[in-house]
Amino acid sequence: VDPADSLVHALRRSAAEVPDRAFLAYFDARLTHRETDELSDSVAGHLAARGLKRGDRVAVMLQNSPHFVLAVLGAWKAGAVVVPVNPMYKSGEVAHVLKDAEVAALICSDRAWESYLRETAAGSPVRIVLTGCELDFQTRDDTRVLSFERLPEASDADDLVTVARAGHPAPEGRDPEPGDTALISYTSGTSGTPKGATNTHANIMYNAERQSTGLGLPDAPVYFALAPLFHITGMVCQFGACLNSAGTLVLAYRFEPGVVLEAFAEHRPHYTVGPSTAFMALAAHPAVTPGHFSSFTVISSGGAPLPPALVEKFRAGFGPYIRNGYGLTECTAPCASVPPGREAPVDPVSGTLAVGVPGPDTVVRIVDDTGAEVPFGEQGEIVVRGPQVVPGYWRRPDATAETFPGGELRTGDIGFMDEQGWLYVVDRKKDMINASGFKVWPREVEDVLYTHPAVREAAVVGVPDGYRGETVKAYISLRPGAETDPGALAEYCKERLAAYKYPRRVEILPELPKTASGKILRRELRSRTDDH
Ligand code: ATP
Repeated sequence: VDPADSLVHALRRSAAEVPDRAFLAYFDARLTHRETDELSDSVAGHLAARGLKRGDRVAVMLQNSPHFVLAVLGAWKAGAVVVPVNPMYKSGEVAHVLKDAEVAALICSDRAWESYLRETAAGSPVRIVLTGCELDFQTRDDTRVLSFERLPEASDADDLVTVARAGHPAPEGRDPEPGDTALISYTSGTSGTPKGATNTHANIMYNAERQSTGLGLPDAPVYFALAPLFHITGMVCQFGACLNSAGTLVLAYRFEPGVVLEAFAEHRPHYTVGPSTAFMALAAHPAVTPGHFSSFTVISSGGAPLPPALVEKFRAGFGPYIRNGYGLTECTAPCASVPPGREAPVDPVSGTLAVGVPGPDTVVRIVDDTGAEVPFGEQGEIVVRGPQVVPGYWRRPDATAETFPGGELRTGDIGFMDEQGWLYVVDRKKDMINASGFKVWPREVEDVLYTHPAVREAAVVGVPDGYRGETVKAYISLRPGAETDPGALAEYCKERLAAYKYPRRVEILPELPKTASGKILRRELRSRTDDH
């Protein structure tokens, strides 16, 4: 089969070839490939009728649900660029994205629209709003997901499910070209202000293909969406890969170990991808048995370091091998992974598990500070060139030139390559904190802390954490005479930032350590041993 040009083309093909196969399974609800095609056509027709033009941006802010999938496919069929937004985002975080991407349409949950997004969107370029009521897994007793009642207050927005069912035809001539931007994926970076990586349809299809062929999955594979679809890994390695292979995608709203295990037992998935912490949580759940994993052909881990002990524990206790994979939003999820049928070696010196080998047509190099390549076994910055690397950041030529010199991605990760071509990730050059696979950029948290009247200086670092791998810690010095306490400062951040970003630990010091030139010494703060 020829690779599809985009996921829209992949869906048209599967709707013709396996119309009655379930594409989405969500608790007790099912949508076939044909239904998904028809319902998303109707969403596209509605968006176009409301004035959405080719290339316009559509923000989709939903948890893993049929609503998310219909919104994304509908937007692509209308020729639009999708801007996935984490539903945990608070008003200020959403406002930045809506403005920066000049978002024309917003698709979100009734609840979020009602509680704060109506207000947030009021000062933004958003002209079209679709809302839908996602099933919360806590209310799963009511299983007729697509006929859920809307909140009456949300009536000033169009209802996503009604629109999907209206039977509008998709607009003509809007199908995406491979080089078109499919997603603007926001990532913060050192500047503190999130910038959007522009993943093209070709970028997505390359990685979707890698995660759907050659893995030994059966003909009608069942994928389980463990990672959130608003995140690049979930979008590409689960939704994208599953659609590319005309499979069935099991959705479970958001990660909750007990619910996930029940869904494993019910749907018998063959494949899933998630951060290592998700597998730790599943392995530690009181109800877990090897039977929960007996349907899996393979499991992939990505987005955070994978401890070799977890791989062993899993294989011994539950059966499946967890294959490591490494990537970034800027390379549309993985750029290196463990080839099917092989096992990643552990570096005897550092004890690190290899993340994999680069995919076909992908060149990974390790370079020193001058950009010169270093010999095998020596550490340096990982740089990547390949069909999954994005063309750049949305409307940010300076940041694009800095991160993608000559089209090559500078990852900001430190690693090395062994003589067999295995890649190892050992450290980071960038300030990013990796908490359970959720990325937190210190500058964004510091910017919020600096708006607090009592704060004189703020430095946010990642400190080791048994469960999350790393957790966010803020060191603060106060303005003379100002009074506040660590709990109040944490709460202040929690009100303004997504829950995974706020500092779970705050320590107030008389003075933050600085260099002679007055720069705060992050490394020194990171290595302080008086953490509590
Ligand atoms: P992935 O596509 O691998 O899931 P991601 O989608 O989480 O990555 P980002 O949020 O951009 O993408 O974060 C990428 C960063 O995550 C990398 O720069 C690296 O620091 C870290 N990372 C990703 N995979 C691994 C891994 N297997 N081992 C260690 N660190 C990793």
